[in-house]
Amino acid sequence: MIKPEDVVLYKKSGEPGFATTQKNRTSILIRRLIGEAIEVRATDVHIEPESKRVRIRARVDGFLRDMAEYDHESGSRILSAIKVLCDLDITRKNRMQDGSFSGVVRGRPVEFRVSSVEEVFGDKMVIRILETEPEIIDLKRLGLDVKTETDLRLFLTRPQGMLLVSGPTGSGKSTTLYSLLREVDRKQRNVIAIEDPIEYHLEYMTQIPVSPKHGVTFATALRNALRQDPNILMIGEIRDSETAAIAIQSGLTGHLVFSTVHARDSVATIYRLLDLGVEPFLVANVLNMTLAQRLVRMLCRSCKVPHDPDEVKIRPLGRYVKGRIYSPKGCERCEGTGYRGRTGVFEIVRVTEKMRDMIVEKASEDVMRKVAREEGMQPIHIAAMEKVNDGLTSLDELERVLG
Ligand SMILES: [Zn+2]
Repeated sequence: MIKPEDVVLYKKSGEPGFATTQKNRTSILIRRLIGEAIEVRATDVHIEPESKRVRIRARVDGFLRDMAEYDHESGSRILSAIKVLCDLDITRKNRMQDGSFSGVVRGRPVEFRVSSVEEVFGDKMVIRILETEPEIIDLKRLGLDVKTETDLRLFLTRPQGMLLVSGPTGSGKSTTLYSLLREVDRKQRNVIAIEDPIEYHLEYMTQIPVSPKHGVTFATALRNALRQDPNILMIGEIRDSETAAIAIQSGLTGHLVFSTVHARDSVATIYRLLDLGVEPFLVANVLNMTLAQRLVRMLCRSCKVPHDPDEVKIRPLGRYVKGRIYSPKGCERCEGTGYRGRTGVFEIVRVTEKMRDMIVEKASEDVMRKVAREEGMQPIHIAAMEKVNDGLTSLDELERVLG
């Protein structure tokens, strides 16, 4: 829960929005509202005077929901204070005004764009919230199925082991890793992340930026981190033999290791470690899970339209239509795109005993893929098709992302 004291606001000029000693009710109300809005991932906050009250609503995932309501006196104090924050003219009536202010919420910078328009019962104000650093998504919202989410939570409680995520740039790998780290009991475990660059911030976590210019590579940073008795290590990427070797050794000696590699799917991810020169028996022993992921756009819920696909065309691809599927249309809410928000699609390998034996025996990637399927791995295009069948995304989008 974000408290008013976690929210610091500044005018555009950089001056404090409220004097630090100012503990008045309006300042606290505004900071509480902003904290709550960010907590629920609102993209904007609407302050709307009505005949008997001032209603405050927040837009979350494209939809407005009630947040609070105040009497006219408190409501107009809030409106005036925000106008002052934006250096807007508080006396001017009957016109549209816009401005901005900035803030730091729980240590993360946020920008606010404000527009105010005079309406029947006073000024209606909309505050757009622009997070300048991406948000860490709750594990529940990554787009995982229930079974995988449960398995991942179980993995997080293990004393040692390794989980690898693969996917192209911009496929949400670091979001996934951070969503996992968010769930870890960081207060009681020493968590060290080595990243290039640092994208997110979490409390109770040490973050070391990689800086080859200053001689800090993934491998050197990892060695330094290991001197600090970590329980959990997050390595931004394993892309060289040295890092691979240290990471694997760590995962076998009492550390839980998370990382990403460049590989085209969840099975190829296993082989990436072998390519980097790691002994097969070490890979077999250390790896618990591999995830390959992509992001697909979600259909706009306001305008998606039912769609009857040409099943003859999609069946050979293993894509079965169950129930109603939808196509994008485009409306005001989705700015005509037909899509709003994105979700992850995953291909997950749980490394089983049988697969461990096969890694040691250096089985070929194709044979491994076949066995992985037998052992329960759902190929990513099937996982994506489930999302089409759930009406979350479209066949076009699946084609676009997975080909
Ligand atoms: Zn729409």
